[in-house]
Amino acid sequence: MRSEPFGPLDRALPVIGHGTWQLEQDPRAAAVAAIRRAVDVGMTHIDTAEMYGSGWVEELVREALQGMRDRVFLVSKVLPDNASFEGTIHACEESLRRLGTDWLDLYLLHWRGRRPLERTIAAFERLREQGKIRAWGVSNFDTPDLEETLALAGEGRIACNQVLYHLAERTIEHGVLPWCEQHRVALVAYSPLASGDFPTGRERGASVLAEIAEARGVTPQAVALAFLVRNRSVFAIPKSGRERHVVANAAAGDLVLDDSEVARIDAAFPVGRWRGLACI
Ligand code: NAP
Repeated sequence: MRSEPFGPLDRALPVIGHGTWQLEQDPRAAAVAAIRRAVDVGMTHIDTAEMYGSGWVEELVREALQGMRDRVFLVSKVLPDNASFEGTIHACEESLRRLGTDWLDLYLLHWRGRRPLERTIAAFERLREQGKIRAWGVSNFDTPDLEETLALAGEGRIACNQVLYHLAERTIEHGVLPWCEQHRVALVAYSPLASGDFPTGRERGASVLAEIAEARGVTPQAVALAFLVRNRSVFAIPKSGRERHVVANAAAGDLVLDDSEVARIDAAFPVGRWRGLACI
């Protein structure tokens, strides 16, 4: 599994991590096994949020990470409505309790809301001083939001921006990704498999992915993930509640596409016109 420096952090992370949204809809034993398998195959970046299953998923992650916590880069997120100074501190402590851990490796503002950003950042910094989080970042931030965060926090404080990025939704390549690269902010691609709406059969581009996958001995999903993480600032966090899918996705972390493969995928899934940051 290829690892790359994660934004300004003094550590590298695997380019393929593991998402947990809607994992409460999978059979519990399978979901727990999928997370444990993800860690075993090197997808040690585990992404969750207080929102997922209203806290239920964080409890599931706790169960899955028994005996494994030290091997994992654990990420959770505060909901915008909770992101006042006191609310952020409280939400983090509740996440820590549900996750059964003393610290988060990374804590994110899930999306920009009505709470003043400076108070959320102040809470993040307080949590960091207290050792409850090791780093903080943002999610669903467009470039004006990133500029504002940078002006408030300074260079080297924003660890990542977690945003929607998959083959059919490449909007971030216009502005957000170049901004993140310029300011050494990791870009974490969420819904990298289009939340399951993945091109198959006769859909546009499906045959390109299938042909490359067959030639490389991987799945079309792994080819898609490898395309997204071709840029060294990008990390992807596919979700799966099935061990066999987890193992297949991990293969993307060792797959380096050549120029002609990248060009074929690029032509089949063009970047499209700028129309503002897309979010789920
Ligand atoms: P995703 O990872 O794009 O797609 C997940 C879907 O793809 C599931 O239906 C899964 O089914 C299927 N899948 C996964 N691997 C597969 C494979 N190898 N072959 C076939 N199907 C496969 O969707 P996502 O959950 O929307 O996004 C990933 C993560 O990003 C989330 O879990 C969450 O952690 C994060 N996220 C963050 C935000 C945000 O606002 N910050 C928003 C959305 C998501 P199975 O489970 O059956 O494998």
